[in-house]
Amino acid sequence: MKYHFRTILALALLGSASVQSNAQEVTQNNQADFAEFMDRSGNQLRAASGVPGPEYWQNEADYAIEATLDDVNHSLTGKITISYTNNSPQELDFIWIYLNQNRFTETSRGTLTTPIGGNRYTGDTDGGYTLSNLNAKVKRSSSTEHYIDDTRMQVYFDEPIPARGGTATVSMDFTYRVPVEGMDRMGRLDVEGGTIYSMAQWFPQVAVYDDVEGWNVEPYLGAGEFYYDYGDFDYKITAPFDHIIVGSGELQNPKQVLSSKVRERYEQARKSDSTVYLISPEEVNDMTLRAKQEGTLTWHFKMKNTRDVAFASSKAFVWDAARINLPSGKTAMAQSAYPLESAGEDAWKRSTEYSKASVEHYSNKWYEYPYPVAVNVASHVGGMEYPGLNFCDWTDTGKSLWGVTDHEFGHNWFPMIVGTNERRYAWMDEGFNSFINHYSTLDFNNGEYSSTLNQTRKFTGWMTNPNREGIDVYPDVANLQNLGMVAYYKPAMGLLLLREYVLGEERFDRAFRSYIEAWAYKHPQPADFFNHMENVAGENLSWFWQGWFYGTGNIDLGVDFVQTYQGNTVIGLSNKGEIPMPVEMQITYTDGSTELVRLPVEIWQRGDSWNHLVNSEKEVQSVEIDPEKVLPDVNFSNDSWPTSFYQD
Ligand SMILES: [Zn+2]
Repeated sequence: MKYHFRTILALALLGSASVQSNAQEVTQNNQADFAEFMDRSGNQLRAASGVPGPEYWQNEADYAIEATLDDVNHSLTGKITISYTNNSPQELDFIWIYLNQNRFTETSRGTLTTPIGGNRYTGDTDGGYTLSNLNAKVKRSSSTEHYIDDTRMQVYFDEPIPARGGTATVSMDFTYRVPVEGMDRMGRLDVEGGTIYSMAQWFPQVAVYDDVEGWNVEPYLGAGEFYYDYGDFDYKITAPFDHIIVGSGELQNPKQVLSSKVRERYEQARKSDSTVYLISPEEVNDMTLRAKQEGTLTWHFKMKNTRDVAFASSKAFVWDAARINLPSGKTAMAQSAYPLESAGEDAWKRSTEYSKASVEHYSNKWYEYPYPVAVNVASHVGGMEYPGLNFCDWTDTGKSLWGVTDHEFGHNWFPMIVGTNERRYAWMDEGFNSFINHYSTLDFNNGEYSSTLNQTRKFTGWMTNPNREGIDVYPDVANLQNLGMVAYYKPAMGLLLLREYVLGEERFDRAFRSYIEAWAYKHPQPADFFNHMENVAGENLSWFWQGWFYGTGNIDLGVDFVQTYQGNTVIGLSNKGEIPMPVEMQITYTDGSTELVRLPVEIWQRGDSWNHLVNSEKEVQSVEIDPEKVLPDVNFSNDSWPTSFYQD
């Protein structure tokens, strides 16, 4: 290592000048850009390496539900028994249960916080729960004491649920009117052949008690999605005989609810890589394909280790299916249910092909799909995910149907397998999902559809808009115009930058897979994600997390000058933005040869300008930062030298 005399002299002169002119001011250094941000020290619950600690716990809620769908009065009436296990170190005097259908009243917080002109999360106001026969049991004690506030219900026990494994049972009867408009997450749609019931948020569901917040009881307002514990579900839906019901989890009683012909096709589809009709478009009204010709049928489903379940019911369904091949050799079943209106060649006829491809891609690339079925339902809901079942827009075709289907199935990984708190951290759900969707789309059918997430410079207009917000803003707080960026594109781009610019594919993929594996069926917090990625990738990324994920600053790298220096060339670079970045630049020499140079982010630790010595006697003709154009650099006019060399 050499230390140039000339540099020492320059520093000495600089030092004496500043002492003379301004003895009191201290120049700000760049430590703040690189220092740890937020409390990410580990504990016994969540280790600093980003894995669950030895004392990590989460509670469990198992559900048994029997409900009847009335397609004349559009109501759902049922009985639910919740078996709750308290694994926390505290005994619990009460639990909180979400009553999401209570959003659909005149006076709900969701209604009262919806703007006059409405928005995507508008909901009907003639619904809400009627509850009866509530019974809350711990051991032999029983209680009916409860308190309802908006979309939450507090249920008190006669004696507390013991800590570390104590159990309680809460049962009640419920009924409500199924809204038409269910905040773009559920509801009903009338088509030619009947009504399609998209049923979600359809039963009372226990809130999460965790080690970070205690009870997570933010009301159900609109943009904020969900946060639930894992459990086993056993549910039975009774509907008129002519309805087909598709649901999350495995159908338990095909012999009772499917005619022998449909059952035969069902078994055939289980073994088929191409789509098999269970009920073809021509057969929608053929009642000989139903198990009964009058009365009702009860469809029984079970799903293990899941946050939630949803289902759809209609007499208007075309129904098809195909096998999903998983990396372990196991199989699952892709299914689609849609009305005749959606059955076009370029439309829902391809839904099962899309569903199968999507689930197979994510299983191969990130983590194996754990559920027995993956159902895509055509609905008036624009696109909404539940474990093993989606509602997607019934009018979508072609690329947009691929896009929404792939996106909603991608949610099985975030947040259904990796169980984050969506109501607060939409970026860990929508953002991570949008990121994996990019590669799934590139992969599908030899690139039949394009994905443009890597064209990050398209977004610099938003990034420099004064109304922008940070990724960390809660979805119910974010300006709705910003939600697409803060919840989806910006975090997705952040992961893309990490993978394709900062860490490289191999390091990123290893860390990201490891994060999924470590937190599958658990509840990671943002700090757990940051810690995990840093520990497996072996890189302190605080400068990136705080700049990109928790700030509103931008990237702006620039070439200031290129000049010859003692027979070599010096390239003067500067970091004009708030987020430092490694510098990748392509140098082109006058003899036509090129060289790719990569400088680490640490060049910016001591200041915002850096001189790079090109150790070559060749004459430099041009320099271009980020030749692959991965960075959303907000001022790319200064990214090259000479300035006129590259302008896009
Ligand atoms: Zn989404």
